[in-house]
Formats: sequence, C-alpha cells, structure tokens
Amino acid sequence: MTEEVRVLRVLDVHKDFELQDHRVEVLRGVSFEAKAGETIAVTGPSGSGKSTLLHILGTLEPPTTGTVEINSQSPFVWSEKKLARFRNRTIGFIFQEHYLLPQYSVLENVLLPALASGADRPGRVRARELLHRVGLSHRTEHRPGQLSGGERQRVAIARALMNAPRMLLCDEPTGSLDSSTAGQVSDVLFEVQKEDSLLMITVTHSDNLASRFSRRLCLREGRCSEV
Ligand code: ADP
Ligand code: MG
Repeated sequence: MTEEVRVLRVLDVHKDFELQDHRVEVLRGVSFEAKAGETIAVTGPSGSGKSTLLHILGTLEPPTTGTVEINSQSPFVWSEKKLARFRNRTIGFIFQEHYLLPQYSVLENVLLPALASGADRPGRVRARELLHRVGLSHRTEHRPGQLSGGERQRVAIARALMNAPRMLLCDEPTGSLDSSTAGQVSDVLFEVQKEDSLLMITVTHSDNLASRFSRRLCLREGRCSEV
C-alpha cells in the first residue's frame, strides 16, 4: 500500500496488563493496514480486546510492543503534549456513551474540540454546518438533557468531526440505542464517513451493523483475522 493512501499501519501489536500477581496478555500480535475511505468493523467476543485495540489506535494508550503508524507517523515516541495535539486534529472518537457536557448547549459541545486545539476562532460556522449535516439544526441551543438518545449520539458525531479528522474510531456507537434509532445513527455515520472519505473503524456486537462495513476484523485470543 502506498504511503499517500495509507492512514494506518499496525504491525505485531501486543498489549499486556500487569495485575497484582499476574499479567494478562490481551493482544498477542495484531497486524493490519487501512486506507482512507475504508470502513472496518471490529468484532469478537466480550473481553477479546476490542476496546483495548481501539484505545491504542486512538493513541490513548501505548502498545506494550509493536508498531502503530498513523499518517506515516509513529506517535507513541512523542511528548504527551504533542500527542494530544495530534490526536485532537487527526482522530475523531465516538463511544457508546455520548460524553456530552450537560451544562453546555449542543452547539458549544460541538465546538469543544476546536477550543481544545487552541483555534483562534472556534469555528461556530463549521459547528452549525456539522449540526446541519447530522440533522440537528433545530437543536443547537438545547442542552444534551433535552435530547433523545439518538439525537445525543448525532451531536457526538458532529463533535467528532469538528477538527476534520482523517480517522473516526467508534466503540459500540449504537450500543445504547433501540434498533430503529441505531439504524438512523448508523446511516448518519456512514454518510459523513463517505462524504469526507474517512477511515472509519467501529467496534460492534451487532452483525446487522457489521455487515455494512467494507472490511471486518475479528479479534480472538489476542489475534485478529480478516473475515
Ligand atoms: P472488549 O472491548 O473486547 O470487551 P476490552 O478491550 O475492554 O475487551 O478488555 C480486554 C481484556 O483486557 C479484559 O480481560 C479486560 O479485563 C482487560 N483489561 C482492559 N483494560 C484493562 C486495564 N486497564 N487493566 C487491566 N486489565 C484490563
Ligand atoms: Mg469493549
């Protein structure tokens, strides 16, 4: 794969956790590459290390050994400050829980990543555009507590896109929603992924959702296989 299109290169990643009296080997040699515009579902039994892998891909946690390159860069050698800046600009996260701040409006929640990146102008126009894209133009001044679960997850999608990331990492993004709302939120995710040609990597338990992705990686006993 040429460097221009490759967003992600994962080579022989291992992750162990040290517990009081023993080590847990969660990832035991995970390797794959991925490029812009691809959609990858990560599946596997509960406890197989799906969230651990996603945290490593999101640079939230270093691997014990192995290589992770994002945009041809190896972020784990950097200082925490440089790493945080890179993460803020390159990676969008969507979790099962929305993690919106309840005291702020929908618009302010979407603006937060821009504020955190130290942008001179926090980009209200862009935040409004993103809320329009996820179908929430009429909710900008509401508080998260006044929205439905599906609407809150759509705000989380807009927030993840605020700094125009190249890679979207989602951990069970529809796991707390009923199936019809889950379908609507997935539609929005795939729409924005396609429009921006993002690499989207999504952990999911749902076969229904997994079938919509261009690739599927299954984690089992610490290794991943493409299915
Ligand atoms: P999944 O998302 O596939 O359900 P996780 O990645 O959350 O699995 O967890 C995989 C394994 O790693 C589990 O056995 C879990 O207990 C363990 N684990 C995850 N994070 C930690 C941690 N910070 N410390 C110790 N063990 C952990
Ligand atoms: Mg998990």
